[in-house]
Amino acid sequence: MASLNAPEAREQVLSTLNRDGSRRWIRPKPAPGRFHRRRLIFAWSLIFIFNLMPILKLNGKPLMLLDVPKREFTFFGTTFLPTDTFLLMLLLFSIFVGIFLVTAIWGRVWCGWACPQTVYMEYLFRPLERWLEGGRQRQLQLDTEGPDLRRGLKYLFFFVLALFLANTFLAYFVGWSSLLEWMTQSPARHPMPFAVVLGTTLLVFLDFTWFREQTCIIACPYGRFQSVLLDRRSLIVGYDEHRGEPRAKQRKGRSPDAGDCIECLRCVDTCPTGIDIRAGLQMECIACTQCIDACDTVMERTGRPRGLIRYTSQQELTGEKSSFLRPRVVIYCLILVAMFSTLAFSLAGKSSADVTLLRGLGAPFSELQNGQISNQIRLKIANRSDETRSYHFSLEGSSDLQLIAPENPLVVSAGDTQLTAAFITAPRTAFRDGEIAISLHISDATEFERVLSYRLLGPHRAGSP
Ligand code: SF4
Ligand code: SF4
Repeated sequence: MASLNAPEAREQVLSTLNRDGSRRWIRPKPAPGRFHRRRLIFAWSLIFIFNLMPILKLNGKPLMLLDVPKREFTFFGTTFLPTDTFLLMLLLFSIFVGIFLVTAIWGRVWCGWACPQTVYMEYLFRPLERWLEGGRQRQLQLDTEGPDLRRGLKYLFFFVLALFLANTFLAYFVGWSSLLEWMTQSPARHPMPFAVVLGTTLLVFLDFTWFREQTCIIACPYGRFQSVLLDRRSLIVGYDEHRGEPRAKQRKGRSPDAGDCIECLRCVDTCPTGIDIRAGLQMECIACTQCIDACDTVMERTGRPRGLIRYTSQQELTGEKSSFLRPRVVIYCLILVAMFSTLAFSLAGKSSADVTLLRGLGAPFSELQNGQISNQIRLKIANRSDETRSYHFSLEGSSDLQLIAPENPLVVSAGDTQLTAAFITAPRTAFRDGEIAISLHISDATEFERVLSYRLLGPHRAGSP
């Protein structure tokens, strides 16, 4: 609601705000057409994929699992462990560069076709809203009327959907089987996951009932970056003003010099972010193509060629020749190829276990009652294989040294990481310049074998500097 004494803005500041500052609810009119049909199929395919990803398995693992407590990330059968920081960084950078590349070529294709906000809003929540409340006019009417039973029913449906989405979201972090098990138990047994589901449900519900298109217009950081990611040759949804102007209503006596735009405002009425594409490329445009379908229908009805609003580029709209290849596209491609090659080589070269040898906590060494010098070591083993394995470790070389390990072999279950402490003792006389170079051999019953070099610390021999 607008403040009583607030002066009206001179022009529209935001498509979701009236000039007096009150909310302007966007109730887009559906625009059936060729892009709508393609987007409908694509959107529902994505919805299925999103819901099936935590359920379906590859190599016995979910297609995607972000195990936060274990700090593990499973993606299409490959698990990244906390020791894979470099690989994860590569993957993350590859995703970023991939986004830069896609945006430079196809503009906001992600926003209009694949973003969950658009997909769920335009192909689940809005159709449900229309089914319950009626078309655009009826919805606008309901906006000015008081509480309504159908609107109440809509909120109930939206809440159930939000609850379902929140559970699917949680399944990405805890796995589908754990989620199903927890659902049958009291929330008090799993308060944290329960709070996450509740919080997410509330956020999703508020997003799709109240915040809606403002997520794209105000909140989404990707939308804000468009001005630097796009260039004049990027694909956009654009209005051809050379063809459309001067606009004139379709009526008797229409000037023969008038452009193809008949001022029907179908493109504006169908826009989910409430803008007029005829005013040029705007940050609010999510390239959803609804205005293309709306205008094409008008063009067909009035006997004009389709494409007054179309997929184009800023360069093409000004009559210049537009080509796909340009330096930034080539550079992004080269970076991506380099990153994916490194990622593929690193993954292929990964052994079935990661082993780290660490110095013990506290004093670097201690002298035992029998005069031997003792060093504590810590051995960390991450089992990357799909089965439980036993890792045996031993010293290579000198017979003067003795390894004392309470957990040898160390048993590590599949995908798990274990840390064990051990001691290595050596006679005082074995130390040269306060050190002994040793080699620790680690192996399991299969092909895995690793030799790690290490320096034991001890006293300097009497007489040495
Ligand atoms: S739908 Fe096409 S003809 Fe109608 S106002 Fe928009 S651009 Fe003009
Ligand atoms: S201007 Fe057209 S493409 Fe852009 S958001 Fe509106 S309807 Fe979608």
